[in-house]
Amino acid sequence: MIFEDFHVHTDFSDGADSPAVMAETACRLGVRRLGFSDHGYAPYDTDCCIPEDRQLAYCAAVAGLKRRWAGRMEIFCGVERDLYGPAPAGDYDYVIGSVHYLELDGESFTVDWEPEILREAADRFFGGDLLAVAEAYYRAVAEVPARTHCDLIGHFDLVSKLNERHGLFDVQDPRYVAAWRQAADRLLESGLPFEINTGGMARRWRTEPYPAWDILAYLARRGAQFVLNSDAHSRTTLLSHFPAVERRARELGADLISFPCGGDGRTN
Ligand SMILES: [Zn+2]
Ligand SMILES: [Zn+2]
Repeated sequence: MIFEDFHVHTDFSDGADSPAVMAETACRLGVRRLGFSDHGYAPYDTDCCIPEDRQLAYCAAVAGLKRRWAGRMEIFCGVERDLYGPAPAGDYDYVIGSVHYLELDGESFTVDWEPEILREAADRFFGGDLLAVAEAYYRAVAEVPARTHCDLIGHFDLVSKLNERHGLFDVQDPRYVAAWRQAADRLLESGLPFEINTGGMARRWRTEPYPAWDILAYLARRGAQFVLNSDAHSRTTLLSHFPAVERRARELGADLISFPCGGDGRTN
């Protein structure tokens, strides 16, 4: 079983627990490599991100934990940078690049919050066509490496988060499949690993990780590498669903790697 987790939020952004509590819990669960990845500051996301004036305090808090846990657990200071977010202030070991928002005509719409927001975006910009919203999302996802300079692709198909509960669009629709394949092909060229993210399962939004199994299998067949992450927003969801998801991912041919974040704290 995998005992590392590089997608972890704390109360510096929208997590429930402090970095110290997350580290203690992780160590008790057997984690040997732990990466913090709070939401990088973004002016349109102030409810969820690290406040602009707390970025250095966040890095300092994680640096303190690195020292405190040295020899027992390796700790890394990462950040989850949104596609439209500014470059984070501070010193980071790695960056997760994610799309949480669509920018349409200068306005930001969250893709993973409430179905009404996606419907509003569809109505105002795409004549009510929710698949067109998904297409716009995947065009944005394809830009993640260039705009966020990330080391890891975050939750590739987040736009489908609300689908199991709210049936927003058909994930088998050829337009949807074409949209994610185009983004996947572009990202595969980058050579960056994709995360397999169990956060939506832990919070009972969906029964599959990000990316969904069919997308994961597509990526695996084309040689993608994967890092298993929980996207934990509290100590109770660290490593959530890891054994079952790891097993299924391997059955689908996924090349699961240990995240290449070197001992010097820099990604290789
Ligand atoms: Zn995210
Ligand atoms: Zn996250």
